[in-house]
Amino acid sequence: MSIAARLAQIHMELPDRVTLVAVSKTKPESDILEAYAAGQRIFGENKIQEMVGKQQRLPKDIQWHMIGHVQRNKVKYMVPFVSLVHGVDQIKLLEEINKQARKVQRKIPVLLQVHIARETTKFGFDAEEIRDMLKTDLLPRLGNITVKGLMGMASFTSKEAVVRREFRALKELYDETAQVLPNISILSMGMSGDYQIAVEEGSTMVRLGSSIFGVRD
Ligand SMILES: *Cc1c(COP(=O)(O)O)cnc(C)c1O
Repeated sequence: MSIAARLAQIHMELPDRVTLVAVSKTKPESDILEAYAAGQRIFGENKIQEMVGKQQRLPKDIQWHMIGHVQRNKVKYMVPFVSLVHGVDQIKLLEEINKQARKVQRKIPVLLQVHIARETTKFGFDAEEIRDMLKTDLLPRLGNITVKGLMGMASFTSKEAVVRREFRALKELYDETAQVLPNISILSMGMSGDYQIAVEEGSTMVRLGSSIFGVRD
């Protein structure tokens, strides 16, 4: 099946409230252009250097999302153009994005990444850390950042009940966060293997790579 056909199929499945991020990491620019020709404008990358290179060569109306772990020393390369940073997992990183964004006079939309999986290797804040942060004046003080919502990755398992429970916990934390930050609107959860469950549990943004572009090498 072509990239355009896969995109069409996914769009038929997704409710209108769910935004599709086409995860193009490791994929050639020709694949991105094929998706672009089919109307896709939001692409996700997980390495800042790769995203910067693609951004320079590809159409300027593409919205680039940084979905991966962010290295602090590379933040400066993405702040001029990035449209959403999903993987913000440390206060120091929030502060660095704020600092670099001020230099280019932008306000950068970010998501706080929450650690919901059982695996200990995944990045992210714990729910308690998010609650504690919301009690402080940290976020209001960071004038060049807007927190748009939360992002999380479920455990890599075929046990649907485990994945569902993790997504449900993230949705609950999202609703709690919305009481303090009423302007949030994005709950980024769901990848190719689990997005149907994520959507059922309240996701508003799915990040799909292999189901659009085929498996990565
Ligand atoms: C690679 C990646 C995805 C997409 O994964 P697929 O299984 O190919 O859909 C989504 N989110 C993050 C954070 C990723 O790194």
